[in-house]
Amino acid sequence: MTGTTQVSTAKDVPTEQDVQFLRQAYQEALAGFQEGGIPVGAVMVKDGQIIARGRNKRMQEGDAVMHGETDCLRAAGLREDYGEIDLYTTLSPCMMCTGAILHFGIKRVVVGEDTNFPGNIDFLKKCGVQVVLVDDAQCKSLMSKFIAQRPDIWFEDIAGNETV
Ligand SMILES: [Zn+2]
Repeated sequence: MTGTTQVSTAKDVPTEQDVQFLRQAYQEALAGFQEGGIPVGAVMVKDGQIIARGRNKRMQEGDAVMHGETDCLRAAGLREDYGEIDLYTTLSPCMMCTGAILHFGIKRVVVGEDTNFPGNIDFLKKCGVQVVLVDDAQCKSLMSKFIAQRPDIWFEDIAGNETV
């Protein structure tokens, strides 16, 4: 988790609570995997409580925009307090979800892993979002298992963009 090129600050280090909420996002990812879907899960947390849960439902609902993060945003309903909400996601956000995070003004994102997909952590940080990378072994292992089993579905999901 500690890279030589990245400067780490205390804010970048996951708290015990972060790890617990990430486990809940992982449960969503696991449920998705068991449904035959792409195993990416997310939860939104406000004041130490989970207010919404979501998971990638591309396969389950035939909906290309239902990524873990966007499904979670949909579950959260219409809100005016995104700036006070932390988003937990098992996988580093794609450009669509990164856009949604910025669009709604979410200021803190906890990411399970960026090994299977680099996503847009640096871009989010540049835009002022606090991003905490947990580098979680379970998140990595579930995602890599799915990619190995169904590379076709995975590449459709990320629209062929392996880097963003
Ligand atoms: Zn996404």
